[in-house]
Amino acid sequence: MDVSHILDSLNDAQREAVTLPRSSSLILAGAGSGKTRVLTHRIAWLIQTESISPYSILAVTFTNKAAAEMRGRIEALLETPLRGMWVGTFHGIAHRLLRSHYQEAKLPQNFQIMDGDDQLRLVKRVTQMLGLDEKKWPARQAMWFINSQKDEGLRPQHIEDYGDLYLKTQLSVYRAYEEACDRGGMVDFAELLLRAHELWLNNPVLLKHYQERFAALLVDEFQDTNTIQYAWLRILAGEQDNLMVVGDDDQSIYGWRGARIENIQRFTSDFPNSTTIKLEQNYRSTGTILKAANHLIDNNAGRLGKDLWTKDGDGELISIYAGYNEIDEARYISERAKQWVADGNRHSEAAVLYRSNAQSRVLEEAMLRAGLPYRIYGGQRFFERAEIRNALGYVRLISHRDADAAFERVVNVPPRGIGDRTLEEIRLRSRTEGIPLWRAAGQLSTDQGVTGRTRNAIKGFIAVVDAMDEETENADLESLVETVIEKSGLIPYYEKERGERGQARLENLAELISAARTFNPDEDLSFDSETTDGAPMSLLDEFLSHASLEAGEGQGDPNQDCIQLMTMHSAKGLEFPVVFLAGMEEGLFPHSMSLEEPGRLEEERRLCYVGVTRAMRQLYFTHAESRRLHGTDSYNQLSRFVSEIPEELLQEVRVQNTVSHRHGISSSMVPTETDIAGFTLGQRVHHAKFGDGVVLNYEGHGKQARVHVNFSEGSKWLMVSFANLQTVG
Ligand code: ATP
Ligand code: MG
Repeated sequence: MDVSHILDSLNDAQREAVTLPRSSSLILAGAGSGKTRVLTHRIAWLIQTESISPYSILAVTFTNKAAAEMRGRIEALLETPLRGMWVGTFHGIAHRLLRSHYQEAKLPQNFQIMDGDDQLRLVKRVTQMLGLDEKKWPARQAMWFINSQKDEGLRPQHIEDYGDLYLKTQLSVYRAYEEACDRGGMVDFAELLLRAHELWLNNPVLLKHYQERFAALLVDEFQDTNTIQYAWLRILAGEQDNLMVVGDDDQSIYGWRGARIENIQRFTSDFPNSTTIKLEQNYRSTGTILKAANHLIDNNAGRLGKDLWTKDGDGELISIYAGYNEIDEARYISERAKQWVADGNRHSEAAVLYRSNAQSRVLEEAMLRAGLPYRIYGGQRFFERAEIRNALGYVRLISHRDADAAFERVVNVPPRGIGDRTLEEIRLRSRTEGIPLWRAAGQLSTDQGVTGRTRNAIKGFIAVVDAMDEETENADLESLVETVIEKSGLIPYYEKERGERGQARLENLAELISAARTFNPDEDLSFDSETTDGAPMSLLDEFLSHASLEAGEGQGDPNQDCIQLMTMHSAKGLEFPVVFLAGMEEGLFPHSMSLEEPGRLEEERRLCYVGVTRAMRQLYFTHAESRRLHGTDSYNQLSRFVSEIPEELLQEVRVQNTVSHRHGISSSMVPTETDIAGFTLGQRVHHAKFGDGVVLNYEGHGKQARVHVNFSEGSKWLMVSFANLQTVG
């Protein structure tokens, strides 16, 4: 049988992995060394040469997007559509199993999956039912407790409380929550995994069936599996030695969500007959980018150890740009991205990666301003986030009491005892009387037919909004937003949500204050600053329209060619010709929270390693000398991660600052020297293909020097050493 198409495009180590006899194996390899490629070729190999049916293959990857891509690649290799193969995420596969075996899993046939919001509401009802003080025992904390126990495979009966009040109380919530879920036939995300694990434990016959069915189990991004996922795999693999896992310990970035890097470290002892193969040749990035990545990750202790190399040339140096502030940083990125496209490349080949979601707002605005289509992956856009919409709901209400949607959104957020029944009464009155919800609520608050408690709850809400209004009467936009957030109670509300998620929400709220401060309607291209009758809108209204427009449009549709914006976490496994890592500052990246916990800093460094190794040809680090994020100005030092990279791999893009209009300072890149490699700025030059042009700009030096030349057909960046430019006149 001709299998050359499966093996030809592989190197020796990859070929060895793809053609291993059936046994357990760990493919341990650095970024871009072809791990995912090995996995897809292995599946094609098994189907084609070992006659394994696709039906007998189970492949687990990290996202649905990756699963779809994997399937597509295998189909392309085999030139036939695949049916029956199980490929998906752990959650997706667990769900499928539970649907097929709901009886064995002790679930009703029509069980419902709860998302995070649903789960929180249920936990809250449970804590109320138990008569717990919400202030002392916040529902968010209980939810976090429950999920972490489930991720470790623990039910309440497995946990000893040692008479500890905290544990005792959380356990009582966990128990009551379980009962409520069982009664309602509801399953949360963590439960999917736990129950799928128990399905194996409690049903030997079923387990045996699946062990016999699956001739091959394959897992990508193995370094980020958690305890329960690994336990599930081990049971399924049993004695069969048919589990191939691929991963990179240096890319384990979900420790904060329960991922266990130890899984990779203990794999070889759990599967003593397994083969380990290391791949070290990288096919993705230039020599310079790889050297930078190797040096960076070398600062972590306890690595399994591997060094990446490439046959490719060194390529360009890594550029560092120091923005005057975050707006200037974003503007630089959008300018360079625009140039990338003008040079004949696709938008989607450029990615902007950042540590924290709150950074995306300024970047999004720069993209909008530059007229660049962009898309945010793996996260919501700034103005669409729930916490931002909630805060703006209050802002809208103080200027427009009859804004019903805003009323509905915030009347009981944070919770203030206005439940569904009360809200229904308010709606009813609003409908029958034909008045806005706000006024209907006002009427109910004095209606003797309503319980005193409800009346007080409504009065409380009205008082909050009225007080906000009064206090912000003469305030500027920034202090208005700040006061509203402060008075709304949203901050303590989100503080209760533990972990990164709650922290991110607080950061976003603070970032909204920054947005208000720097809001400049003259720069907002998304709408006209005058209403149709010519009367100017108030600044507040302009800001609100800006926010709703931002939330609705601007973002390119999924099929459009767009600049890719995402957090470094969501960039795992992906690759892009040009990558910008924005916000390379101490406190931001590494995140200040990581400095408190040992181990977290190393996880941050791995995250940086993931970011750096996404880049194929060009990598930019950008940072801002001053940054307004989360509502405060900070003057951060350059990230230690950049300092850990040898200087000879870096080039600073020089700037000259010029004061520009209202909100700050813009910079244009100009060299400090005026004479570069024989050219001066403004000089006329001739290029064999592009004709005559004018030198606009310059970066790098020596062999890496590039000039930006404006030709009649558009401007281009050219490597001085290759372009063979002649000076003219
Ligand atoms: P990550 O750690 O980021 O998930 P990875 O190890 O899974 O990376 P792949 O995404 O499989 O790496 O491969 C990286 C790039 O190198 C891809 O563009 C892939 O097509 C290419 N590649 C891998 N192996 C080879 C090879 N033998 N010949 C040519 N190109 C290759
Ligand atoms: Mg991969």
